Amino acid sequence: MLKGKTALITGSTSGIGKGIAEVLADAGANIVLNGFGNSADIEIIRADMERRNRTRAIYDGADLSDAKQIITMMDHALDQFGTIDILVNNAGIQHVAPIEEFPIEKWNAILAINLSSSFHTIARALPGMKKKGWGRIINIASAHALVASPFKSAYVAAKHGIAGLIKTVALEAAQHGVTANAICPGYVWTPLVEAQIPDTAKARGITEREVIDTVLLEAQPTKQFVKIDEVAAFAAFLTSDAAASITGAILSIDGGWTAQ
Ligand code: NAD
Repeated sequence: MLKGKTALITGSTSGIGKGIAEVLADAGANIVLNGFGNSADIEIIRADMERRNRTRAIYDGADLSDAKQIITMMDHALDQFGTIDILVNNAGIQHVAPIEEFPIEKWNAILAINLSSSFHTIARALPGMKKKGWGRIINIASAHALVASPFKSAYVAAKHGIAGLIKTVALEAAQHGVTANAICPGYVWTPLVEAQIPDTAKARGITEREVIDTVLLEAQPTKQFVKIDEVAAFAAFLTSDAAASITGAILSIDGGWTAQ
């Protein structure tokens, strides 16, 4: 389905991004992986994709908090593949603390990685998509692009910002065969969610078990975590021709969280 196309997925060494990269690779796309982690583990992911699908997969370890590194990553990917047909802005970090205690460096890092990095990748990828008359931009936003939770000021601000960015890009690209959408998952069991449990327990004065039951799953009427595979399949659908008219949409996959 995606033979001959190239997909760049930020933050694809772990969690949701890795799941999306695997599904797009299995659909035949060449892949640009990005994110942090143990280099031997990342090489296993990369080599496995190439072997399974007989496509190319490359890895770029650009730190998305640094605009210069993002631009170098994008230029290198464009050099290698000609165009980036599918851009998935997925990398993200979290920090949980009351706003009065929120460290300035955490605010700056979350805004840079969760919001500004998408501005830089989109600005670099869009000209090639427009020229080809086909492109897919997918941001992994969050239910927090639509609603807030206490103690997540930077994350909620950045994710609401993504909704605005995606709508704007969708309008600018609408007549060029390029769609831009944001997927808004509820809680998905990944290292990002696991890591915020101790700080959430501290901020709310409850146990870690209570965080899972009364904060995380409390938000989701299904009382189930969203699965990585579900988000990946949704992203893959957005790359299909059947999704050509879905653009500028802020799409929930949150077990009913934002219906409340
Ligand atoms: P994760 O921690 O498993 O993966 C995050 C990825 O981003 C990793 O590959 C990591 O190396 C990369 N990354 C982090 N900082 C980076 C940087 N400076 N430069 C380059 N790469 C960097 O997390 P996840 O849960 O899979 O989250 C992926 C996305 O999904 C994030 O944008 C997150 O906000 C969003 N999301 C997650 C959930 C959830 O419940 N897990 C819910 C809604 C939205």
